[in-house]
Amino acid sequence: MNPIETKREYDRKRYLDKKEFLLKQHAEWKRDNKGKISQQSKKYMKKNRIRENKRISDWRKDHPKVQNAYNKSRGIIIQKGTICETRDCNELALEKHHPDYDHPKSVEFLCKNCHLNKHGGGLKLIQ
Ligand SMILES: [Zn+2]
Ligand SMILES: [Zn+2]
Repeated sequence: MNPIETKREYDRKRYLDKKEFLLKQHAEWKRDNKGKISQQSKKYMKKNRIRENKRISDWRKDHPKVQNAYNKSRGIIIQKGTICETRDCNELALEKHHPDYDHPKSVEFLCKNCHLNKHGGGLKLIQ
């Protein structure tokens, strides 16, 4: 082995030792703080959910047309086995999309992917 390789090997070993040590330390910390962690993540989830719900309801308030279209199209059922209306897409249609919110009862049946694409991939939860 030439000196450079030896050094590399040494560094690698040190890195692995350190990694192992850190992992162990983290596992211990997790074990000691179990209650704390689950409480924290619950809190975080709750806070996030509230924020997310508020974001959606704010968005709908700002877009009454969309809300109206959404309400009016609720009764439209996607028949089992309906295929996405996008050309060349053979996925099952699972979602309704309004090409024009002025016509709340006219919807397209789309698969999830095509629906996201219609909205530029952004507005996940909005019809
Ligand atoms: Zn849509
Ligand atoms: Zn599709």
